[in-house]
Amino acid sequence: MASDFKLLQQELKQASAQDVLVRVLAEFGNRIVLASSLGAEDQVLTHMAFSINPDVRVFVLDTGRLHSETYDVIAETQSKLGVKYEIYFPDAKSVEDMVNEKGINLFYASVENRKTCCGIRKVEPLRRALSSADAWITGLRRSQSVTRAKLDTVEWDDAHNMLKVNPLADWSEDDVWQYIKSNSVPYNALHDVGFPSIGCAPCTRAIAPGEDVRAGRWWWEDPANKECGLHVVDGKLVRAKSGDSKEVFE
Ligand code: SF4
Repeated sequence: MASDFKLLQQELKQASAQDVLVRVLAEFGNRIVLASSLGAEDQVLTHMAFSINPDVRVFVLDTGRLHSETYDVIAETQSKLGVKYEIYFPDAKSVEDMVNEKGINLFYASVENRKTCCGIRKVEPLRRALSSADAWITGLRRSQSVTRAKLDTVEWDDAHNMLKVNPLADWSEDDVWQYIKSNSVPYNALHDVGFPSIGCAPCTRAIAPGEDVRAGRWWWEDPANKECGLHVVDGKLVRAKSGDSKEVFE
């Protein structure tokens, strides 16, 4: 598949998000999964993909530290759209050991601690979620951050050895909200109070008008460290340092 991905990449280079989803859902069937963090982009994709195929697989990583508003989005999307999420939790023993050794809010103490927490609560569950798939779909957009500026619609994900599809790569934030409003898609109430990017509750804050959209994530850290660990290969920020296409969703 690694050798075929460039053909699909070329074929879908100019395709609309809808056409990209139609193509990849038909190509991969139940071997493709949509990764949802319950943010605005992922809600767009969930609605779009579910409209194309109600059996589409959508997974959520429940880190155990999400906002209550995020759980409300899960419940509302399940009841309104009928989406049956696959929800993955972190390994309980690993969380217990980490918290007992380093503290409940260890992530504020150092970048290393934050990466440890993301590793246990996100990275390992993500690997489990992707283990039954040959391709995955993310809501990444180029304009979200400097580390995503070279994002392609179809990429090869070396970290997980599978195809990664980013149907909204060339969408603007306005495109996202226009779709949500036009289609009455359920969305996280935190978006209405200054949260453009929604992750774990202790690691996400609202931003001021004009601030970078990623400024609310791990706001106490240097911006260069702000990918969550899911974008890391062998401990390095692959896209930020080499410009290739190995980045992974958060
Ligand atoms: S975002 Fe924060 S709470 Fe969530 S897994 Fe990463 S460090 Fe832990």
